[in-house]
Amino acid sequence: MPQIAILNQKGGVGKTTTAVNLSAALADLGKRVLLIDLDPQAHATLHLGVVPGDDVPSIYDVLCRETPLADIIRPIHATLDLIPSSIDLAAAEVELAGEVGRELLLRDHLENIAGGYDYVLVDCAPSLGVLTLNALAAVEEVVIPLQPHFLALHGLSKLLETIEVVARRINGRLTLGGVVFCMYEAGTRLANEVTRDVDEFFEHAKARNTPWSQARPFKARIRRNIRLAEAPSFGQSIFTYAPDSHGAEDYRALAKELAAAVATKNLPQTRAA
Ligand code: ADP
Ligand code: MG
Repeated sequence: MPQIAILNQKGGVGKTTTAVNLSAALADLGKRVLLIDLDPQAHATLHLGVVPGDDVPSIYDVLCRETPLADIIRPIHATLDLIPSSIDLAAAEVELAGEVGRELLLRDHLENIAGGYDYVLVDCAPSLGVLTLNALAAVEEVVIPLQPHFLALHGLSKLLETIEVVARRINGRLTLGGVVFCMYEAGTRLANEVTRDVDEFFEHAKARNTPWSQARPFKARIRRNIRLAEAPSFGQSIFTYAPDSHGAEDYRALAKELAAAVATKNLPQTRAA
């Protein structure tokens, strides 16, 4: 069962938009999906219409108070469930500082419920701290949203280094599944050049035995679409807010590509530890 972290230590690249709408698209395909919001900003939680507050138990209670994940699941629609975040989560870094095995908390909690889902997606915070390490220890795949501008590859090496260290030290099955271009402006020279550079980067990586040697950019690209930016303020995924938009079309294509890759065992690739 694929467990996927949506990760990039940069903010504003499309992580949350991808985590929410890819989850919703997979759910629309009939898959049972659990989305875990692991960002103290709680944007994915809000995007799905859940307003964080004292009466909403969150992933903070799981990581810092040992509340079982099963107790805080929020059904969103038929086959989509959410584990909400809250601002309290910002304190987790400090509260867990002295805890032995603090990177493995999410993994251990997830083992108890993961069997009930076809996909688990984790929306990560824009940092490489203890929360993100928990995501990387729990999943088998990383998907990196990238915005096609000239600095797209900049910062990627730091991220890949982190993935490699985690794969070596705490999670031998961790691989990079792929890169998804977000806010893509088709037909521009810039987008063409950057996508070519990224293609070449992963082409060269094939020769080495790294967690990203099998990774590639997804063929489905997410175009810049105002409906995707509007949907969060209505607390809805793109499929309820604007099902006929380009945004819905693109995330549907991404979900189908991902599901097809999973079905043919292209993704996730299990790498010997
Ligand atoms: P991150 O989670 O990486 O910080 P977000 O998914 O929150 O990034 O996206 C940053 C901003 O860009 C948000 O306001 C979001 O609504 C907007 N956005 C994301 N993807 C698109 C897109 N394809 N077209 C238009 N706006 C987008
Ligand atoms: Mg986000």
